[in-house]
Amino acid sequence: MPYRRVVSDVDDHREAVFAALNRPRLVEALGRLSLPGLIDLLDEVLRSRTITHDGGDEERIVLAVAAWYPPRAKQEGSDEAYLAALGLPDLGPNDRYYPSGFCQMGTCRTCRTEIVSDVKRVLCPVCRTPRSLT
Ligand SMILES: [Zn+2]
Repeated sequence: MPYRRVVSDVDDHREAVFAALNRPRLVEALGRLSLPGLIDLLDEVLRSRTITHDGGDEERIVLAVAAWYPPRAKQEGSDEAYLAALGLPDLGPNDRYYPSGFCQMGTCRTCRTEIVSDVKRVLCPVCRTPRSLT
């Protein structure tokens, strides 16, 4: 999905979201957003909750993806999960969003956060460094 359409999607639904006066309507409105649109909106909300401590230390809430896999023959009984920060789509007008899962992975070169996404180009959700995932 082209980025401009994603932003438009968010803008189109923002009014409906803010007009929602009860939880079921809010959940329904958010559920109608595209995934990139939902990520963009939630990140905006979460960023406003960043806590800065004396001395400049910062705590920031970010979105994450948890993945776990059915036990395989050699890993019988394994229920380990993989957890990584969800990258913020950094798509240009001609880039695409691939709804096939969070199979793009990488590590932020600035803050070393593990990042996953369903797009190749993202911003690190922690420090906003652009990153191309593979
Ligand atoms: Zn980073």
